[in-house]
Amino acid sequence: MTSLQSEIEQRGSRIFELVDQHPESLFSKAGFYQRMMALSMRDEQFKGQLFRFVDVLPSLRRSSDIVEHLEEYFTDMRDGFTPFIHTGVRLARMVPWISGPVLRWNVSGMASQFIAGKNPNDLMKALRKRRAQKIGFTVDLLGEAVVSEAETDEYAARCLDLLETLARDTRGWSDPLGKNSELFPVVNVSVKISALYSQMNPADPAGAIAHLAPKLRPILRRARELGAFINFDMESYAHKNTTLELFKTIFSEKEFKDWPHAGIVIQAYLRDSEVDLRDLIEWGRARGTRFAVRLVKGAYWDYETIKSRQNGWDCPVYFQKQESDVNFEALTQLLLENESIVTAAFGSHNVRSIAYAQALAGELGIDRSRFEFQLLYGMAGPIKRALVEMGYRVREYCPVGELLPGMSYLVRRLLENTSNEGFLRAKFAENVSAEELLRDPRELLRRNGPGSTASAANGDSHHKNDASLDTASGDIYQNSPLVNFVYKESQDKMRAALREVRSRFGEKYPLVLGGEKVWTDKLTPSVNPSAPKEIVGYVPEGGIPEAERAVKTARAAFGKWSRTPFEERARLLERAAGILERRRYELSAVEVFEVGKPWAEADGDIREAMDFCRFYAAQMRRLGRPRLTQHVPGEESYHHYWPRGVALVIAPWNFPIAILCGMVSAALVTGNTVIMKPSEQCIICGAMLMQIFEEAGVPPGVLNFLSGHGSVIGAHLVDHKDVDLIAFTGSREVGLKIWESAGITRSGQRELKRVVCEMGGKNAMIVDSDADLDEAIGYSIYSAFGYQGQKCSALSRLILLEENYDRVMERLIPAAASLRVGNPEEPGIMVGPVIDEAAYRRILDYIETGKGEATLAYQAKEVPPHGYFIPPTIFADVKPTVRIACEEIFGPVLSVLKVRDLDEAIEVANDTDYALTGGFFSRSPANIERVKAQLEAGNVYINRSCTGAIVGRHPFGGFKMSGGGTKAGGEDYLLQFLLPRVVTENITRHGFAPEETPQYRDEFLWPKR
Ligand SMILES: Cc1cc2nc3c(=O)[nH]c(=O)nc-3n(C[C@H](O)[C@H](O)[C@H](O)COP(=O)(O)OP(=O)(O)OC[C@H]3O[C@@H](n4cnc5c(N)ncnc54)[C@H](O)[C@@H]3O)c2cc1C
Repeated sequence: MTSLQSEIEQRGSRIFELVDQHPESLFSKAGFYQRMMALSMRDEQFKGQLFRFVDVLPSLRRSSDIVEHLEEYFTDMRDGFTPFIHTGVRLARMVPWISGPVLRWNVSGMASQFIAGKNPNDLMKALRKRRAQKIGFTVDLLGEAVVSEAETDEYAARCLDLLETLARDTRGWSDPLGKNSELFPVVNVSVKISALYSQMNPADPAGAIAHLAPKLRPILRRARELGAFINFDMESYAHKNTTLELFKTIFSEKEFKDWPHAGIVIQAYLRDSEVDLRDLIEWGRARGTRFAVRLVKGAYWDYETIKSRQNGWDCPVYFQKQESDVNFEALTQLLLENESIVTAAFGSHNVRSIAYAQALAGELGIDRSRFEFQLLYGMAGPIKRALVEMGYRVREYCPVGELLPGMSYLVRRLLENTSNEGFLRAKFAENVSAEELLRDPRELLRRNGPGSTASAANGDSHHKNDASLDTASGDIYQNSPLVNFVYKESQDKMRAALREVRSRFGEKYPLVLGGEKVWTDKLTPSVNPSAPKEIVGYVPEGGIPEAERAVKTARAAFGKWSRTPFEERARLLERAAGILERRRYELSAVEVFEVGKPWAEADGDIREAMDFCRFYAAQMRRLGRPRLTQHVPGEESYHHYWPRGVALVIAPWNFPIAILCGMVSAALVTGNTVIMKPSEQCIICGAMLMQIFEEAGVPPGVLNFLSGHGSVIGAHLVDHKDVDLIAFTGSREVGLKIWESAGITRSGQRELKRVVCEMGGKNAMIVDSDADLDEAIGYSIYSAFGYQGQKCSALSRLILLEENYDRVMERLIPAAASLRVGNPEEPGIMVGPVIDEAAYRRILDYIETGKGEATLAYQAKEVPPHGYFIPPTIFADVKPTVRIACEEIFGPVLSVLKVRDLDEAIEVANDTDYALTGGFFSRSPANIERVKAQLEAGNVYINRSCTGAIVGRHPFGGFKMSGGGTKAGGEDYLLQFLLPRVVTENITRHGFAPEETPQYRDEFLWPKR
């Protein structure tokens, strides 16, 4: 055993000895909390329900609501478990006016376990107690997630108040160790950076810093005057780089450069934490003034793993607990070796991690008064006491605030305390031996083998539910990841792409018919809606002759293409996906300029295009082979598909590459030949997509790129006798014309035309009385104003229950007022321009109409003077029957409707011509089930935004006047592009039949020439 390991064991054992001298439970309060924790550790299902119940409880105002929720959460629990809960629920039902408050009181008690006080008075009581125990403090102000700049101002003001109160009420307090006390001011405040800016965007650290620094300076200035210490807490990974950059920027400023009482957190569970810490130390040395680092493992492990899996990102956190432990020790060493510039605070309850820091500091000859241990309020009291007794400096992290805003903090602590991996559970609930707990994590890691639990975090541990015992259809392929703009490298690539695309402004791109580049005598310009004087590029305007040529060439190419094996066609799509991937930043940049998409929205569009290609390729492999219909002796019947013929694809501008590519790739892979007509507003995107398919090797004539006026060439082609299929996404007006026109059979027409038609929506979201408003408001704002409200899935009717109305509006309007409107070339912009002048005028007209029909509750005052910028607008008191509540506006205009109750809310939501998307925010399982069943929409979203469908995950499309009932990105989409066929043969000869019939037979695909 190394001497360091034996030193660790000695120190660790000493801590355990001291802990065991005061047999106190893990938590300072027993009773209800202990029981809940014990049950949670025994049963995962109970734990899930408990956390959800705790999460919703503070928002329930009536006792009867509490009892209803209790019943909904717990009575259906399986395993015949928790009779105590069942009895509780029965009792509660009988006497809700007693049980409601009792439950609330118990959960408040549970929260007060971890929250030092509701207000500064409570807080001071707790701090005085700790002072008597020689424990210092850092105070954290709990707050709800900020959704507006008004809320960030409030947070900043509360920080200033807190500093004043603490400085005043701790006057005369001194450092408990009395040595090196200049490094450790008594007053210590932990600040959450995300609470100071509501529009944090990982792609735009500079923009965030420009907003954050002016908010922080007065706080830092006052802290310095009062002799206090300020620590920047670290939150989710999305904010990590901005927080580090902000720290370095602001503490390099002249005013704060020589101030040593600033600290920041490093999270050892992050794979890049060592690089960050080394960078900080280097920065600190260059700055020449001490600073502090609180080393923790990290509080958002579950969140980070889920989030990265959802987006297909590399997971930023380690997968194995021991990897975090090992890294914590490596970073401890780095901190202690650089003690001359950085003061370390070790934020852990893990005795091994603590003992390691003690032992290493001893080995390096660092006095114990030059660093400190920090532990959370309400947890691991015996460890704190032991550390004090051993002569170490101990500081407690004390959250202060109301129960409601404290809920997410409470749930994090509950998760941590019941986690299978956690130290506290192992020590205090499972009585794991000291020897085991002090083992070198490297040894444990060697035992597990690297990455052995990685798959659990990677998501191979899906639970199958009753509805999907087979492989889910979306699981047959992998979605492409989104670009993670948190990385500087991604930001730089996007900037470079924007520069590059800008340098090509004004280029001309040909039509492509039968593999030939075609020019006409008229060029159509494509303008930048943010700056209409800028021309992104030109494409020739096709007319009737070009349309005729397109049909002819597509028809000529059909014979061969339809006979091409589906495997080859699928590979064409996969090659196209590869090219999209290679050109992804360039294409995103084109979208920023041509259709005014913000960065992440543009990237999402390219990702969706890649997904369509790969998903449809996979689906075609599934569908392509003929399939035996039934096993029957003496006869074989095979079901299989033929392509339909010539497909006309007419796409919109709002997802300029994704939707176009989706419809084109579906048509191609199923063996149809295609005339691709992009919207007039995004012809450069159309030209780019043509280039991509050409490079991927699409044969001449199989895909034809035609641009021109929809009313001329679109209408001509829809009516054309040789066009067999029309795939259209766009407005209701045009969609209905196509639907009707395609129903007329023209002379010489051989096939009935199939129309795949996706149109608009008048999408509603309902906010229940128990909804999590942080989420409801954040997602509503995003759904209504993301990409300027120009997604067909966008929220346009927000339906609020009377009971909630004022509380939601109070936060919704400032949230809208905080949105950044501007040219989306800038990464921090959320609301860009609308597509063109016609849209601009039409939307402004609707706003004027709205002023007559309802109350203008909010309209942004400042938008850029040039370009088609519409101020985000909210109307309140909107009646369900007025025009702004019924007609699709397709712009950043939100109508808010007030209803009595959920019945009326569902009625209003459904009382529209459309049925595309719909949403519901609620924490009542019964209400959620009801809305799932009753909301008339093709895509129903619960507790999330109603935009952002992902291929294979959220097959997309609506019914009623929203579309013909097809699902883009779903398993049955390709069927629209195919003709089903069955071939039956009697294989009996004189009473003899072969015993086995093969499952698949390939020869029916198409007769050989
Ligand atoms: C004073 C103080 C301040 C804090 N401030 C912050 C802060 O600003 N930001 C922040 O994020 N956290 C902060 N924390 C929370 C801290 O990150 C958690 O409390 C801490 O991670 C628990 O670690 P531990 O060493 O006490 O316990 P342990 O039980 O040893 O470690 C538990 C931790 O291990 C990690 N882990 C769990 N499972 C796995 C796995 N499968 N693979 C990899 N790693 C895993 C997680 O980080 C988990 O929290 C703070 C904690 C303290 C005590």
